[in-house]
Formats: sequence, C-alpha cells, structure tokens
Amino acid sequence: MRGFDVVVVGSLNLDLVTRTERLPGPGETVIGGSYAEFPGGKGLNQAVAAARAGASVALVGAVGGDHAGALLRGVATDEGIDVSHLVTIDDEPTGRAIISVDEAGENSIIVVPGANARVAPRDIPVGRVVIAQLEIPLGTVAAAFRLARGRGATTVLNPAPAAELAAEFLASCDIVVPNEHEVVLLGGTDRLLDHGVSQIVVTRGGAGVDVVTRPSSIHLDAFPVDPVDTTGAGDAFCGALASRLAAGDPLLAAVQFAAAAGALATTKPGAVPSQARRSDIEALAATRTPAT
Ligand code: ADP
Repeated sequence: MRGFDVVVVGSLNLDLVTRTERLPGPGETVIGGSYAEFPGGKGLNQAVAAARAGASVALVGAVGGDHAGALLRGVATDEGIDVSHLVTIDDEPTGRAIISVDEAGENSIIVVPGANARVAPRDIPVGRVVIAQLEIPLGTVAAAFRLARGRGATTVLNPAPAAELAAEFLASCDIVVPNEHEVVLLGGTDRLLDHGVSQIVVTRGGAGVDVVTRPSSIHLDAFPVDPVDTTGAGDAFCGALASRLAAGDPLLAAVQFAAAAGALATTKPGAVPSQARRSDIEALAATRTPAT
C-alpha cells in the first residue's frame, strides 16, 4: 500500500483576532478596533504547507460540531487534503485561539483546545512521513509514532508548544524540529541525540537553521526577505520539510527548501494564507547553491 506522502497528526483552531488600542486589565472592558477570523492550529497550518509544497497529505485530528468545525474542514478539503481521519466531536467546541493585539504589537492569547484535546484515533492512514506537534494529547502523538514506525515511516516531531518530553517518547522520533526556545526546554540537542533522535533541525527565525546530527552540525543562513508577519513561518518550514523528505530528498536539501518556504511565509500576513506554493519555494531555494 503506497499511502500518502505526508500524514499530519495535529490541531485545528479558529483564530479570533481583535485589534485594540491597549489590552484590558482584569475586570476591565476596552473597545476593540477590528475583528477577523482566520483558520489556524499547527496541524492544519502544516498540512496546508505540505500540500502546497506538492505532497499528497492526510490530516488526522478533530473538530467540534459547530460552524467553525465545518469551516476548517472546508479549508482542508479545498487544499486537496484528505480528511477521512478528521473526526467531528459533537459535544466539544472546535479549538479556538482568542487573540488580542494592541497598537504596539503586544498580544494576549487564550487557547481553548476543545476537540483537539480529544484527538485519539485508533488508526492513522499510511504515510511515508508522519509529522505531529504538541497541541493534541501527547499520548496520541506517541501512539501515532509507534504505529508509523512499525510501518517503516519517518516520524517528525515539531515540539510546539514547548514541553518537557520523556526519553521513551523521544526514542520514537526520527527527526525533531524545535525552534531556539523549544530546544532549551527539551534539554539541548545532545540530550535528544542521546535518546535516539537521529536528526535535529533547530529553527532560529531570521538567523537561519542548525542541522544537528552525530558527529556533524551544519548551519544554514536564512533567505534574505522583508518580513511583514512571521506568524506561520515555523509551520511553513515543517510542512515543506515533510513534503521534501517524503519525496526522498536528503535532509540538507529538504531543509534548504523548507527554509525558503519559511522565509516566504513571513512576507505575507496570516498562517494559512501565507503558505507558499512549490514553484515559488523552488524559485527562492534555487537562488542558493544546493545544500549537500
Ligand atoms: P517558529 O515560528 O516556530 O518560531 P522560526 O521563527 O524559527 O519558527 O521560523 C522557521 C524558519 O522560517 C526559520 O528557520 C527560517 O528558515 C524561516 N524564517 C523565519 N523568520 C525569517 C525571517 N525573518 N527571514 C527569513 N527567514 C525566516
């Protein structure tokens, strides 16, 4: 059975974003300036990124039986993503991120996991690369990785939001992709290598990427762009990376492509809307000597 290039096991959220002069204190009401809703959640973002980068993608997750759930399911379907393992849990709300941003760009965010907290598939589709994040229960990710490993898939963990992870779980991750803050909470790259992770890709925003294996460590610079909104850059990177690994690229070439996708995502606002298409990513990646 060939299966999908990439199986994403992760979250879907509706982001409710309001802009206001200043953030309210406890017990206070302020009048907001604007309001908009955006599809989000790391699982959905990374699935869209992988699909636009050219992969066949299945998204495993859960939404509630509300209008937001139907909306997010539609976003995934419109991108050509398989949603046969995206379940609807009628007695939960769809995950929400309630985001307030003040004039200075400072934000305060409340995340309501809702249906994401109950993602517990008995089975996941077959895929060459299975990628997960930590916005769904850790036990679900661990079970998915065990199953994927047993079928010979490559498992990729994006440990976001940051969490401490047990050695036993790390042993089921082939590649871990933390940002510079998450890697510290994980105890550093040496600890990950000691516990059986074979490749670590540390993303450092505009400062580029470190690819850490034993015995070598290589730094790749970021592609020079003019960022307008860095939301979704990490998800663009992870989705694009998974798509190229599934296509059989060596790690460094896949990272170079992913870095181009991450850079492009910073040039447009939003997370889902800012994900770039394969031809644009390839054009930017080609401006640099291929990584070997
Ligand atoms: P996260 O959003 O998870 O913190 P990063 O900010 O590290 O992730 O971004 C992921 C990747 O996207 C980076 O490693 C880099 O390749 C690319 N990227 C992010 N910000 C920029 C930027 N300002 N300029 C160019 N590339 C960027």
